[in-house]
Amino acid sequence: MTNLIDIKGVTHAYQTDAGPLPVLDDLNISVPEGDFAAVVGPSGCGKSTLTRLVAGLMKPDAGEVWLHGEKVTSPRATVGMAFQNPVLLEWRTIRENVILPLEIVPNKMTRKQKTDRADELLALVGLEGFGDKRPSELSGGMRQRASLCRSIVHKPDVLIMDEPFGALDAFTREDLWQTMHALRTEEPFTGVLITHDLRESVYLADEVIVLSGRPATTQYVMDVKLGGRTDIDVLYTKEAADMLHILRQQIEIAQGRAVPEKEAQV
Ligand code: ADP
Ligand code: MG
Repeated sequence: MTNLIDIKGVTHAYQTDAGPLPVLDDLNISVPEGDFAAVVGPSGCGKSTLTRLVAGLMKPDAGEVWLHGEKVTSPRATVGMAFQNPVLLEWRTIRENVILPLEIVPNKMTRKQKTDRADELLALVGLEGFGDKRPSELSGGMRQRASLCRSIVHKPDVLIMDEPFGALDAFTREDLWQTMHALRTEEPFTGVLITHDLRESVYLADEVIVLSGRPATTQYVMDVKLGGRTDIDVLYTKEAADMLHILRQQIEIAQGRAVPEKEAQV
């Protein structure tokens, strides 16, 4: 089986005033088509750096990133990105924000088709009727829903999410998790979800990859087996508890490796 995302031996250091800061060290991650992989690891270990490399926004010092059998050498329009901060444009309506990638990525869609596509996605995430609102008129959870729509409106090959639910309260976050499952049923995608929430990783992902402390390498990979259940209660089963326990131990090992340092928030 071919992998849609192949991260092969990626090694990267930032050049800082204090000298090189090694961040990724011979990192290997493979994600088969249709899978959603969660990446967890200590704060500052290099997770956001990894997303920038996969999106082609940066080149690694060594190693390669392959998407769909093509080596990534520059930013790609076929990658969808979602971040903790939804960065919606205030001067555009919610619908116009969702449409944005369709205005950037070359396509033959008419204005009406773009609008319909946006409205279809907004309905799917529970924002029917909010297309004409401005971002500031929506709650944080609703803005994140709209931003999710925007990240997949152009049907990207790969969806990369960097702690997308990190700023939401626990209940809103769980609602968004359920929306993610609903979205995946209607709009299957391959993706990488960076998260520091182990429950989120087990609930949403097909596999969980634990990164070591910086410089990060692949420390542990877990196949999530919850029998296809997508109700929140599945998190309270013995299977989920056992997986969470193992992941927790792996995070502690990863933290043990981490070099303490004042972390810059990037
Ligand atoms: P994570 O997302 O896992 O918290 P990051 O990938 O953001 O980690 O950062 C990894 C390390 O690299 C951190 O120590 C961070 O301070 C440092 N870092 C991130 N971006 C830069 C940059 N542009 N220049 C220098 N150091 C950076
Ligand atoms: Mg980060």
